[in-house]
Amino acid sequence: MTLLGAAEIRALAEKLDLKPAKALGQNFVIDANVCRKIVRTAGVTAGDVALEIGPGLGSLTLALMEEATSVIAVEIDSRLANQLPITAALHSDRSEILTVINQDALQVKSLPGEPTVLVANLPYNVSVPVFLHLLEILPTLRSGVVMVQAEVADRLAAKPNTKEYGIPSVKAAWWADVSGAGSVSRSIFWPAPNVDSKLVGFKRRATPGNETLRKEVFTIIDLAFAQRRKMLRAALSSRYGGSAAAEAHLIAAGIDPTLRGESLDIHGFCKIAQQGLES
Ligand code: SAM
Repeated sequence: MTLLGAAEIRALAEKLDLKPAKALGQNFVIDANVCRKIVRTAGVTAGDVALEIGPGLGSLTLALMEEATSVIAVEIDSRLANQLPITAALHSDRSEILTVINQDALQVKSLPGEPTVLVANLPYNVSVPVFLHLLEILPTLRSGVVMVQAEVADRLAAKPNTKEYGIPSVKAAWWADVSGAGSVSRSIFWPAPNVDSKLVGFKRRATPGNETLRKEVFTIIDLAFAQRRKMLRAALSSRYGGSAAAEAHLIAAGIDPTLRGESLDIHGFCKIAQQGLES
């Protein structure tokens, strides 16, 4: 298998008359070694069904096809989605293992196959909603590595009581253990983005509860971080009918009402939600 480098990426873009669209986060990786390293970091092995979101011109896709049993790639841009099987056939003698789906990843409800590992250079403007959506709808995804904007990576992997900790960190923690997996130089992209990038790894674990609890937990998380500086009794007052009632609710749940959302981990939010569902 030959992977794509800078020359191949430019030639493909020229062939398609493609001007990379900022709105779609189109920054393509032009370094084959980085692609192989990402696939290694994700621990993709034979037997894996790999899911890639936003395959673009195929840099990472081809590296995934070297290791996985099959690859499902979801690409919103039809020009790229149409070209990808052609590129795969030119570069791989196993091109039949690739399934390309021309769809917005946020609209995906199910896939032809059961992906076990997610490996993606995510479109930066929708990286968090896409990541959370996939964890929600694809229970077979057990682990993965995604490349995102550096600040977003820090937020996804943040722990309580840090300035990066917020809605993405605590919602991702419902589904998985998330941790930083290294930085990536701007020079490996064409065009070079004007933000830094990092890798984030995740491993799914049992969720703390069922869907009813998750929906309530996510509502509480949104309220708790809507006004970051507010104590929980004020931030959750609309949910529980005033701040005195919210204070009573929090005490009953075993949570100090003067805390702020930023100091609670996912289990703390679960206690608050559980109390709401029980009473
Ligand atoms: N994986 C390729 C690489 O590493 O060179 C391209 C990554 S580029 C950062 C993001 C890709 O996601 C683009 O190909 C873009 O067209 C695609 N994309 C943007 N929004 C999307 C969405 N909502 N669903 C699926 N693909 C999307």
